[in-house]
Amino acid sequence: MDDSLQTPEELEKQIASLTDDVALAFLKKIQNRPCEACGVGDWFMIPDMKVAGWEEPLSRGVLNPVFVISCKNCGNLRSFAWARILYFMNHEYPKHGE
Ligand SMILES: [Zn+2]
Repeated sequence: MDDSLQTPEELEKQIASLTDDVALAFLKKIQNRPCEACGVGDWFMIPDMKVAGWEEPLSRGVLNPVFVISCKNCGNLRSFAWARILYFMNHEYPKHGE
């Protein structure tokens, strides 16, 4: 599965699909653990930074999307590979009403 070849339109659609409900279901599915920095288990999603991009220096600035959560206590950021999020949305997230 190569998600790096997606078009910007596809990516935009995927990001829109990651609603707060889906994101919370993902964190539940993986049994998201307390913060490794401070031990507090209280996370939140920064509205404008729910999905960020990690730059690939060897690919001339290609951006890899990541899903980001922040620790409410210390501000530590935890990020998840987009391919994992896509797998969750496509194969693991229960589809209601289908
Ligand atoms: Zn923390």
